[in-house]
Amino acid sequence: MKKPICPNKECPCHGKGESENIVPHGFYNTKAGKRRRFGCLVCRKTFWSTIGTAYYRLQHPRSTFDEVAALSVDGVNKSAISRVKSIAWNTVHRWLERAATSCQIFTSSNTGVIDLRELQADEIRTFVGSKKTPVWIFAALDVWSRYWPATVVGKRSFKNTQELFRNVSLDVNPQYVPFIVTDGFDFYENAARNSFAKCLYAQVIKTRRKDRIVKVERRMVIGSEFQFEQALLESEDSETLNTSFIERLNLTIRQATAYLTRRTICFARCSDYLENQLEMFRCYYNFLRPHRALKFGNQIRTPAMQPGLSKRRFSFRDVFTFRFVLIILVRIESNLVIEKESWPQAA
Ligand SMILES: [Zn+2]
Repeated sequence: MKKPICPNKECPCHGKGESENIVPHGFYNTKAGKRRRFGCLVCRKTFWSTIGTAYYRLQHPRSTFDEVAALSVDGVNKSAISRVKSIAWNTVHRWLERAATSCQIFTSSNTGVIDLRELQADEIRTFVGSKKTPVWIFAALDVWSRYWPATVVGKRSFKNTQELFRNVSLDVNPQYVPFIVTDGFDFYENAARNSFAKCLYAQVIKTRRKDRIVKVERRMVIGSEFQFEQALLESEDSETLNTSFIERLNLTIRQATAYLTRRTICFARCSDYLENQLEMFRCYYNFLRPHRALKFGNQIRTPAMQPGLSKRRFSFRDVFTFRFVLIILVRIESNLVIEKESWPQAA
């Protein structure tokens, strides 16, 4: 594990990358064995090697933590993980919250400008708390790279629809005019107009009868027929206006999130849990999971590699050892930021 940076906010070397001032300072014991303790030569505080990472104060082996996260993004619910790994449900729950925070920080630290050409957006309906309170998960997908730039959980309102597009539009190359396709939901049109300086926008409306699609209507809303023809010619993935790529992503999300499995009894008890789970899965989907549609010779890329946001496939270990001392160490365990112990002053 890399050397930590000094977590003491009052120390002059706080936050200075791979600092010379950090030296090994004995060990500490956990149930999983000995771990290294470090000390700072400047402020003379000591701290755990895992400070600022998701493994902070972990009493189990780090691999167990990684396995729990992997099971969770594979759609296994917390009770099942707790039974399979013989770990208390509360521990699993706490670990997954931590893992989600790490994933969120990892994602936001690794986003960058993408060349958005074709965007598809859709919503998934689910429940939070009880079957009486439906919530929607809005998701957007850059079709070319299969990169999932944003997601919003909440009511099916204009505000949330706009937030989804706003979040996407923050990190796009203005050189490209995105070509957006969604279902027939009313709010997308104005949300697209408000969020993107220029865009093409179309709707694909499917009429279902007894779970079968009986009619597909394609409507060009913003942009001329000629512009759409050009956009479709340039597209490597679509031949007609379609929402198949986002529908495929929705299916992937459903399978990977225990809360969203159809006809389930384990829907999320509160929307924070659902959001955490989704953030974790989004990080996994974008940075960790090789996407079968992105196969180049022997290499299968992750969606983040395609637009150049990352050079390689990451692992959960990379995400969980990613240090976020500077950003929000406090958010995880506010009362345990720095251990009290100071080491003896040299005479
Ligand atoms: Zn220090």
